[in-house]
Amino acid sequence: MTKVKTRRAICPMCASEIIVSSKLVEGDRVICLTCDANLEIVMLDPLALYWPDEDEGKQYAQKIDRRDY
Ligand SMILES: [Zn+2]
Repeated sequence: MTKVKTRRAICPMCASEIIVSSKLVEGDRVICLTCDANLEIVMLDPLALYWPDEDEGKQYAQKIDRRDY
């Protein structure tokens, strides 16, 4: 039986649920359908997503950092 498995993750940008194919592995990229964030799978169990270093996410993170919360 070939059943397509999916997993769920939470977008770190907009907190929406993202359905991810279970075929994906660490380092694969997924795109949030809600906010178009380009995310990378950083952990499989539990499934966790984060912004890839070389993308907009880094600039976004730096902005947050400068505000010195
Ligand atoms: Zn999102």
